[in-house]
Amino acid sequence: MPTFGAHAFIWIGDWTSDSGGTAIAAAGRAGLDLIEIPLLRPERFDAALTKRQLDDAGVRAICSLGLPREVHMPINPAGARDFLRLALDQTAAIGSTFLGGVLFGHLGYLTGASPTPRERDICARTLAGVASDAKERGITLGLEPVNRYETYLYNTVGDVLDLIDAIGADNVTVHADTYHMNIEEAGFRAAIEAAGERLGCIHCSESDRGVPGQGNVHWEQTFAGLAAIGYQGPLVLESFAAVNPDLAGATCMWRTPSYSSDQLVQEGVAFLREQATAVGLA
Ligand code: MN
Repeated sequence: MPTFGAHAFIWIGDWTSDSGGTAIAAAGRAGLDLIEIPLLRPERFDAALTKRQLDDAGVRAICSLGLPREVHMPINPAGARDFLRLALDQTAAIGSTFLGGVLFGHLGYLTGASPTPRERDICARTLAGVASDAKERGITLGLEPVNRYETYLYNTVGDVLDLIDAIGADNVTVHADTYHMNIEEAGFRAAIEAAGERLGCIHCSESDRGVPGQGNVHWEQTFAGLAAIGYQGPLVLESFAAVNPDLAGATCMWRTPSYSSDQLVQEGVAFLREQATAVGLA
């Protein structure tokens, strides 16, 4: 059975020891299996405290991040590797086995041109090293294709499958996201089926990053695809009710959402459970 989770930024705008505890407790109260913890500043992350908070709430964690601008992978691969090694240490320290997200670049970093073969080669070679660091720590990586307005590097599930082939490690998966798929893919089901057993995680995000089921994402197609591949991984609600300035800037969230965090989680996760049940996944 797949697991159900939510991104911490549904409840909070920035991860600190205090706000992190608030989000973890809220995930526990909502009856979720897991919370996705943003490791945007792994050097400031209190893993020991977070692990206690997770244990108290009875919630597991997966981790994700986008790289800071100064360690955008094609520009500073050595810096990216060091940053990701620290993030992997923190992921392992809270007992988590998954680090996903935009591990290859900075969200919003555009060059005004398509990725060059050299840029993609740097990413594949650097991520091969990161995959090795991850394997030593028992961690699976998830690489998230994001839409053309947020990155020029990898926009589609097919792009990331090619990247995974180039990396050549068995602990690297696709981290899909229906918000980005709605912009970039020819179809939801076909993209999910193409990923198949290499799908490691999926962000279930509505077309406006609002409440799933209330926008333009083709949820029947999405869940038909997940059922076709027998998906057993995390279904993570990624919408943003509490927006921090960095995140708002990176994801271009300029309007205040019309829903509360609790409404988003209750209605959104209920919808995802219904969809999963309807196709026999849950
Ligand atoms: Mn996402």
